[in-house]
Amino acid sequence: TAGFTNVSNPNYTDDPTGGADELFGGLLAAGGFDGDACHSRRELPRYYKHSPYAPSPYLLQKLRDYEARHRRCSPGTPLYAKSIEQLRSGAAHAAEAMECNYLAWIPFNGLGNRMLSLLASFLYAILTDRVFLVHFYDDFTDLFCEPFPGAGDGETTTTTWALPPDFPIRDLWRFGVHSNESYRNLLNYKKITGDPGKETPLSVPPYVYLHLAHDAKGDDMRFYCNDDQLVLKKVNWLLLQSDLYFVPSLYGIPEFEDELRWMFPEKESVAHLLGRYLLHPSNSVWGMVMRYHHSYLSSAKEMIGVQIRMFSWASVPVDDMYNQIMDCSRQEHILPDTNDDAGSTNATAAGRSTTAILVTSLQADYYERLKTKYYEHAATAASGGGGGEWVGVFQPSHEEQQEMGKRAHNQKALAEIYLLSFSDALLTSGMSTFGYVSSALAGLRPAMLLTAFGHKVPATPCVRAVSMEPCFHEPPPAATCQGNKAVNVSVTRHIRRCEDLARGH
Ligand code: GDP
Repeated sequence: TAGFTNVSNPNYTDDPTGGADELFGGLLAAGGFDGDACHSRRELPRYYKHSPYAPSPYLLQKLRDYEARHRRCSPGTPLYAKSIEQLRSGAAHAAEAMECNYLAWIPFNGLGNRMLSLLASFLYAILTDRVFLVHFYDDFTDLFCEPFPGAGDGETTTTTWALPPDFPIRDLWRFGVHSNESYRNLLNYKKITGDPGKETPLSVPPYVYLHLAHDAKGDDMRFYCNDDQLVLKKVNWLLLQSDLYFVPSLYGIPEFEDELRWMFPEKESVAHLLGRYLLHPSNSVWGMVMRYHHSYLSSAKEMIGVQIRMFSWASVPVDDMYNQIMDCSRQEHILPDTNDDAGSTNATAAGRSTTAILVTSLQADYYERLKTKYYEHAATAASGGGGGEWVGVFQPSHEEQQEMGKRAHNQKALAEIYLLSFSDALLTSGMSTFGYVSSALAGLRPAMLLTAFGHKVPATPCVRAVSMEPCFHEPPPAATCQGNKAVNVSVTRHIRRCEDLARGH
């Protein structure tokens, strides 16, 4: 994870004024964008309530360097053409230095999973001086704007982060744990020989597929070892597929340790800052966000986000989940209390402020129950701060079930992630990457419902997250790098077990 922060971090404030300016303290480049191509890029800073961490000067420098590299090496440039030529030639080669090296990211699994893996992979590209390109499946298009300056700015070079359709490695969807080109199989089949820095020269193929998804196994995990990073450094093209936030295990790689510390002096700020830097909803999604926000939420003094995810493997009856939500809310003081005396009314209408409760869930049940609660009973006071006595309950959609491969479904999910991220306080479902992304973008440590493992309602309804960083659900086993330079122990001291999953970091 998740929780590798100092709980009493003096820089973390719940000051709702935040520190956000138009460009998030220089996180976003000032120029190089076509003004109408991406409205959210310009407008998002006005909607977040919390901006607890300013980017470090070192991070800003790394991002500006990255942007320069992207312009120099992105598709359409001579350096990209040169690299593609090398890739087409296909032969294994003694590792010669290429000016531009690439990381092509392949989406996998639900939207939250994809967003977390995208952020982790972009960070890995920065750490390894690679150019970050995205393979856009149809259901993953028209979700996000081009993030790097120079895209569609009408100048001679037009950058993009999209992997072009004529990319010579076809059918990227076919890559998986059994692919011959995976790092594990290339090692097993002795397609990578030699040793970096030793007498036998290193010979590597022109590309390596990194399978870092939840079903990665054995030597796939050697990605997290320092010596293996020295090998991967020599590979011109890396293809990476993951559905996980693997950042916590990058901290265990000595090669990256100093860079990470300099970029992110506050360890819980990684997904928060990179998410705000890289992810800007497309105009289609932003239109949905704005229409909903201005129609239902913007007039409220306070907005509380409630994100409920019922996993099929941890399902419980709706009543049990509703009780868990209410127990959690009382424990962590999230939702306004109600006066359950039959005759109670709000004394006067004048001068009352309102609280909006934004519910997101695939089902409508929790929204219905909450709406009824605040319809039938008067709220006494908002406990989450701000004091609201008129309580509105809203839910933008209830899609009933998760759909794979449908763009419109993903667009709604993304709009809801962004609406949640505008909350003053959050109550989310543990283990849900949808919830993790919302919290990180919001800059909030949510009250997180614990999961009903084995379909048993947990004894403790929820915990307050110690960090806004997402949890890495499948970190490599401790013995992964034995024989190689071991994982750096002093660094792993910063990494904690996740509150919502004992095996996660
Ligand atoms: P996770 O499964 O909770 O970790 O989150 P993911 O985002 O990876 O996958 C769940 C998918 O189900 C989402 O991408 C959506 O497509 C859908 N989904 C889950 N919860 C919601 C919700 O509250 N609103 C909407 N619109 N879709 C949801």
